[in-house]
Amino acid sequence: MPKLIRDRTLPARCPFCSAEIRRPAEVEGDEWYDFAAGSCTCGAVFAHDPTARNGGAVFLQALLMASDGDMDRAMGMAEDVDYDVGYVYKYNLELHRLEPNSFGTLYFVRLRAGAGD
Ligand SMILES: [Zn+2]
Repeated sequence: MPKLIRDRTLPARCPFCSAEIRRPAEVEGDEWYDFAAGSCTCGAVFAHDPTARNGGAVFLQALLMASDGDMDRAMGMAEDVDYDVGYVYKYNLELHRLEPNSFGTLYFVRLRAGAGD
């Protein structure tokens, strides 16, 4: 019997190192962190935008997490100088997979060596 419904989902991977990431989870202990988030073994951090409408706030959270919660440091850094940004679209948090009909976005931030010093 051929499988009638093809599985069109893909594992969620880090845009920097291609490793499969863990499911983002609620961040404990900081009022700034409204969105589920996580980190990759390569040093990238990511936050999850479930609606594709929170972009700025989700990105800011990822940047702040990458800066160890230091807002001044986060605001003083520049993209493509101090850090790199990556996006993973069509992320489905329930499946923890990329799925064509999903609208979730993962925002990744990875600091460059010596950033913010
Ligand atoms: Zn990675």
